[in-house]
Amino acid sequence: MSRSKIFVTRRLPISLSPLEAVAEVVLWPERQPPPYEVLRRESQRCEGLLCLLTDRIDAALLQASPQLKVVSQMAVGYDNIDVKAATALKIPVGHTPGVLTEATADLTWALLMAAARRVVEGDRFTRSGQWTTWEPDLLLGPDVAGATLGIVGLGRIGQAVARRALGFDMRVLYTAPRPVDKALEQQIRAEYVDLSRVLREADFITLHVPLTTATHHLLGAAQFQQMKPTAVLINTARGAIVDQKALYEALQAGQLAGAALDVTEPEPTPLTEPLLSLPSVIVTPHIGSASRQAREKMAQIAIANLLAGLRDDPLPHCVNSEIYG
Ligand code: NAP
Repeated sequence: MSRSKIFVTRRLPISLSPLEAVAEVVLWPERQPPPYEVLRRESQRCEGLLCLLTDRIDAALLQASPQLKVVSQMAVGYDNIDVKAATALKIPVGHTPGVLTEATADLTWALLMAAARRVVEGDRFTRSGQWTTWEPDLLLGPDVAGATLGIVGLGRIGQAVARRALGFDMRVLYTAPRPVDKALEQQIRAEYVDLSRVLREADFITLHVPLTTATHHLLGAAQFQQMKPTAVLINTARGAIVDQKALYEALQAGQLAGAALDVTEPEPTPLTEPLLSLPSVIVTPHIGSASRQAREKMAQIAIANLLAGLRDDPLPHCVNSEIYG
């Protein structure tokens, strides 16, 4: 009997031997993702696909892959995958929740602190030879301790960010489809409000919602108008949750003070992106989960999901578990 085939779309930080033990593994060896045509061609020959958020897994690809038994993504977000099409074809889609929560909350906090205290600007200032003396008003920024933090989306990462805010004695407001339970609210000292109150009252606004049709451009011109002119926006969720053109215009108009983005639309950020011309903007290259431990655990879960799918077992972390119903 011929062995199953698996396509792995990039080198992973752990050994693929658990996959090689049960299947023929085709590994895309390049640093750049496989072109869509390669992805589609390989998927047609495979029973398992281990992919990343840079791979477009659309309905056409899924429908053209009759042998495909499982799509396993090494990420918690899965907006690059047409889950509806996968569900219609009864293909389980796996993701890697939980193991990257703390790493992503850490990067969120690093960006918040860096934007508030102008760390990136300060480094550029030093390297360009402008540091000539101590100055009473050099690179001043807002206080973080005691400020108001607005969290949009209080899921795993949003909650982990709220826990960090406790150490800074911050007032925490959050918006979500519905309030979390009272015990959790008390534990993280967070108050449930609508998005408009988050926008009007927060000194730092941080986004932790998934990218869906409902959250696409959730923050645009009308939302920036409501923000404090001193406010800082942090986005470690997905780029398209923010209307970047409107963000640039709002920053230019002084409707908010700065932004720190780990995710942009598109990715990578083209050097022609107007936001890159603003010193009050920090852009990191989508490194929210980039701690060694988080990436290894993500890869382990992605492999476990894939192996379960090949065996026709329920995936340990499945985004469309209704297919098992
Ligand atoms: P999660 O636990 O599912 O949390 C997302 C939360 O957002 C849920 O509580 C959800 O509420 C809420 N939500 C959905 N729509 C909303 C809306 N319109 N307004 C307010 N809240 C809304 O996911 P997570 O593990 O925290 O991850 C969140 C996102 O972060 C991922 O989807 C991914 O895109 C991104 N991420 C980025 C990086 C990076 O490298 N930068 C790393 C990890 C994750 P319900 O559950 O009630 O719908």
